[in-house]
Amino acid sequence: MIMVDTKPFAVVPHGKGFFCAMITEASPAIIMRVKDFGESDLLVTFFTPHKGQLKGVAKGARRSLKRFVNALDICSLINLEFTSKREGSLCLLHSGKLMNPYPALRSDFGALSKASFMIEMTEILFPVGIADPNMFELLKEAFEAMAEGRPNGLIALIFEARAMALGGYGINLERCAVCGRPYRGEGMAVFNREKGTVSCLKCQEPSALSPAMTPDTVGVLRRCRVKPFTNQRASCWGMKPWKSSNPFSSSTGSTGWRKS
Ligand SMILES: [Zn+2]
Repeated sequence: MIMVDTKPFAVVPHGKGFFCAMITEASPAIIMRVKDFGESDLLVTFFTPHKGQLKGVAKGARRSLKRFVNALDICSLINLEFTSKREGSLCLLHSGKLMNPYPALRSDFGALSKASFMIEMTEILFPVGIADPNMFELLKEAFEAMAEGRPNGLIALIFEARAMALGGYGINLERCAVCGRPYRGEGMAVFNREKGTVSCLKCQEPSALSPAMTPDTVGVLRRCRVKPFTNQRASCWGMKPWKSSNPFSSSTGSTGWRKS
């Protein structure tokens, strides 16, 4: 089998008489991990919009003064030129041009810690072989927002909610997991931990592991999914202290749940 070969592609022998194309391409990439590899090479894990998480070897990168100038630092956004042989194998990294080093992430321990958490979460939700351009944009935007000095804790919370939704683990806030009644966002809801949804108070008792949530809390979770990382202040997300003496009653006098 011979795959189509046009420059800058190169056809090389592979397997039992078969040929496959080694495709050299350039792509934005976020550096996730970097390890020493051999005497002068680096083993780099990176995340791209269209191929997701990849690993590659940067030959001679520890001595190179031209091909990877300041580009292979964790969290950096770079334009990376690499050759991939086949899915799951190591890529060969040719060069990297720094697009944004996000220096503020490296000078603030809290921000670096949150950035590391975001990288770990991306690795788990989008392992090798699973790509999503939206996840790449989410990670890039979160780094940009933290580098601009926006609140790390809030950025991480929003990132977590959106990443979980992109990975297929979003909380269903639309209806009770047990009786199916739609939730209209007025009464109290109970977080149903087993099903990753909300339940109404008739169907589930609140507990330490399945806490009751106010309409404000549910609203914040909803906004987390769609709100961009801009103008991040707690007040603009509707976050305010809960003051009711009975946290499991509705502040509106209504249950907030429609009959199905
Ligand atoms: Zn119910």
